Amino acid sequence: MTEAQVRREMLRIARLCYERNLLVAMDGNLSVRLDEERILATKAGCHKGMLRDEDLVVIDRRGNKLSGEGDPTSEMAMHLACYDARPDVRAVVHAHPPISVAFTIAGVSMARCVLPEVVLTLGTVPTLDYRTTGTVDLAALVGEHIHAHDAVLMDRHGAVCVGQDLLEAFCRLETMEHTALITKTARDMGEVKELDPDEAARLRSMGLKRYGGPPSAVAQADLPGADLPEACRACTGCTNPKPTGIGPSETGSRAGLRMARVTAAPLQSLESALSDAARFSLTGSTEQQPSALEAAVTEAVIQALSDGQ
Ligand SMILES: [Zn+2]
Repeated sequence: MTEAQVRREMLRIARLCYERNLLVAMDGNLSVRLDEERILATKAGCHKGMLRDEDLVVIDRRGNKLSGEGDPTSEMAMHLACYDARPDVRAVVHAHPPISVAFTIAGVSMARCVLPEVVLTLGTVPTLDYRTTGTVDLAALVGEHIHAHDAVLMDRHGAVCVGQDLLEAFCRLETMEHTALITKTARDMGEVKELDPDEAARLRSMGLKRYGGPPSAVAQADLPGADLPEACRACTGCTNPKPTGIGPSETGSRAGLRMARVTAAPLQSLESALSDAARFSLTGSTEQQPSALEAAVTEAVIQALSDGQ
């Protein structure tokens, strides 16, 4: 790709991050290596959904600006730590995917094996301990973990995803948030049933060989359990929601079920109940109408249902 093409790709991926609700307002930042020495990055304080070419700056591997207007993103150290940790990494996308971040606040780890295709292509996503945003401390922690993962979550903050290009880093971010949505939905309905540990290890080993991943993880592809964390190998249905388990919600897996059970009732009764309610609403005063209607519908439906049983 020419530099002009890379710049256009940066605007496209940034807009996608915004449109997919992976960040809002001035959140997040993106970078991509132009060559061995130069990195193209988003500048501080720009809206990723409306990113323009003049919002991009070029910096060197130490973070010094080489060209462009404005300052590089305040989280640049985090990007540089990724490039320093992994020579194979050519692009970094940092965003604040809401469900994934909510997992870190709720103390629920995403470092578990739930969806086969995610285990195959992304592996597990660790949550890093809290550090103040924009600090070298946070950058060092990200660099340390990106060494063995393509995507990490920072406690109460957001995600860092890396790839061989911007599209690959973006896909990992999107996959992470989609996994979080599916896992959250499953938790809302009941419990999260994890993959059988042997199957998870088999999938991961296959994925590392077929699709690659962090070189340190690929090197473990043939070891028992591949690069999966101990928690995935040692247990299933872990009830400890922190630090590494997706357990049932604290009230118990079934008690947390928030879905009403509807008992079938003869259609005739429901129809008459609703027409009763409509008649009631016509006789009520203007201020009382909504609550009177609601009460009448509830009462009439309850009556209809118990008549039907
Ligand atoms: Zn951030």
